[in-house]
Amino acid sequence: MASGEFVLETDDLSKEFKGFFAVRGVNLRVRKGDVHALIGPNGAGKTTVFNLLTKFLTPTSGRILYKGEDITRTSPADIARKGMVRSFQISAVFPHLSLLENVRIALQRELGTSFHFWKSDASLAALNDRAEVLLDAVGLTEFRSHMAGDLPYGRKRALEIATTLALDPEMLLLDEPTAGMTHEDIVRITELIGKVAQNRTVLMVEHNLSVVSNLSNIITVLQRGEILAEGSYDEVSKMPEVISAYLGT
Ligand code: ADP
Repeated sequence: MASGEFVLETDDLSKEFKGFFAVRGVNLRVRKGDVHALIGPNGAGKTTVFNLLTKFLTPTSGRILYKGEDITRTSPADIARKGMVRSFQISAVFPHLSLLENVRIALQRELGTSFHFWKSDASLAALNDRAEVLLDAVGLTEFRSHMAGDLPYGRKRALEIATTLALDPEMLLLDEPTAGMTHEDIVRITELIGKVAQNRTVLMVEHNLSVVSNLSNIITVLQRGEILAEGSYDEVSKMPEVISAYLGT
């Protein structure tokens, strides 16, 4: 296996639910710096792969490697410390706090044991500055004093990206970043992901194929728990087996 070239790899990854293989023998290879999309028709196994990668599920067999290191049994917190972070966990946002406070808390959490360092006035100011930079990066400066719970859905997801970026991850995992969004939100979040991906590796599960074609340079197509095809959007969208998988033929 060519570890080193790939940031994230799965090695013969499978997940069985009572005799049914939702994921079977998947060898996913995510290259450093890529925006890699995982697509496929309903029931293809995308969510299961994502949940295996983010430790919401334990694989029946196979391994997950991050930068060549076996992380199959590593906790999500330890994986985050190694640089791979999952975004879009709505629960990560505190609805009764302002956006600025939300981002500040994310930064303080990231600083962990050095929390007390931030008690001096000078360091609090530095913390606020950093929070403002992150809010600006996701286009939320004008809402900084609003309560997070009052934000419309699309903006809330942008706030989650800001809190995720507080961890300064090398690799971001995004689960259906545009799900349930209006067209305007989709345009905004696509632009934001493109910006965030400039100096990071991104793996995303996404239904919206126009978002996939805009953002991803490599796509893995799943069908019935297995990899059906891989390539650029132009390549995979022309493959007869992919067209037929999407048409359900
Ligand atoms: P996708 O995200 O591509 O729509 P999923 O990963 O959600 O696909 O599901 C893949 C298959 O595994 C589906 O047939 C689904 O019914 C099945 N599956 C997913 N989770 C479970 C579970 N907890 N128990 C039993 N079957 C499951």
